[in-house]
Amino acid sequence: LLASDGRSAPTIFAEMSALATRTGAINLGQGFPDEDGPAEVLTAAVDAIRRGDNQYPPGIGIADLRLAIAEHQERFYGIRLDPDREVLVTAGATEAIAATLLALLEPGDEVVTFEPFYDAYGALIALAGGVHVTVPLTGADFTPDPDALRSAVSDRTRVILVNSPHNPTGSVLPLETLELIVELAHRHDAVIVTDEVYEHLTFGVPHIPIASLPGARERTVSISSGGKTFNTTGWKVGWVMAPAELVTAILAVKQFLTYVNAAPFQPAIATGLRLGDDYFAGIAAGLQAKRDVLSAGLRTAGFDVAESRGTYFVVADAAPLGFTDAVDLCRQLPELAGVVAIPLSAFCRGEYAARTASLVRFAFCKRVEVLERAAAQLSGLR
Ligand code: PMP
Ligand code: GLN
Repeated sequence: LLASDGRSAPTIFAEMSALATRTGAINLGQGFPDEDGPAEVLTAAVDAIRRGDNQYPPGIGIADLRLAIAEHQERFYGIRLDPDREVLVTAGATEAIAATLLALLEPGDEVVTFEPFYDAYGALIALAGGVHVTVPLTGADFTPDPDALRSAVSDRTRVILVNSPHNPTGSVLPLETLELIVELAHRHDAVIVTDEVYEHLTFGVPHIPIASLPGARERTVSISSGGKTFNTTGWKVGWVMAPAELVTAILAVKQFLTYVNAAPFQPAIATGLRLGDDYFAGIAAGLQAKRDVLSAGLRTAGFDVAESRGTYFVVADAAPLGFTDAVDLCRQLPELAGVVAIPLSAFCRGEYAARTASLVRFAFCKRVEVLERAAAQLSGLR
């Protein structure tokens, strides 16, 4: 199934991180921070190991983490969840998406995503036997045309898989688009699956969980993860929030994927979710400053740079520098500038990939001095 989808090779992230390691280039490819997150969260994991939280926890996740997730949804979005029936802990957002698609799809069911899309979506839809239908994100702000969205969703659609803030473009879907998704899901009896792992990383625009919209909650599976919020991408603690009968179906799959998830990291992520509002405001502000440093550096270097409104990523067009093929450019970039980045085509299919062939995704979740060094090196591309 993966081979038929052209996705049996190592992911672009693995390929590009290996290239960075091999060449010693600055890795602005795979999105992971180069600094640790809050000390309280790290200490909580160490304490949990020392205390003996080292055996199988419950498959649905430890009670205190599920409670912390429910408290977090109420505190930030006013959404009230039953932590015992409407929350499920997973091995990162990736397992949450996998288990959800495997639970919901019958072979041949259609899944609508935007394009470009996070690479795992295409592979997981294929593994679940689904048919992947995409709606292009267009214009300087990478938003979908409402009519294109309307014509992509039909009675064949089982799932509309949404991701906002959006990897790789850094766009944040406007309220009207979220409302249209809810309307279309009702009209065609589809389930909304929403990947909100970058919920706390928006720059000057609010994050609106689609489940908070009228009429959305009963048909929405919301997914998030601790990786981006607490600089712990290697811990792989994610979660699903959904109506109880959907959680039951997703848990039925999850129990045979990973069974349960890492015991000591669960209380630690619960500690993180209970940090004060200043922590959450601080990570967005800190990352926005990094976005500004890298975006300005890329502009000075001659790229045409899109505005990133959220996530770890900014998209830049290399065409003004004379590079029309971002795949080629990214392979040469370690040698030309000592930097690794990801071609946007890694997140697209044929036609859209051809239209966006000169676009490159850069990660800015790195220390400012690293971003400044990368920008200086890239300025030699002209
Ligand atoms: N969804 C998106 C949009 C992502 O960018 C990522 C990458 N971190 C994931 C899901 C995977 O998250 P996790 O590491 O929690 O599995
Ligand atoms: N989400 C991160 C990115 O888009 C890491 C992805 C990965 O390693 N699979 O870069």
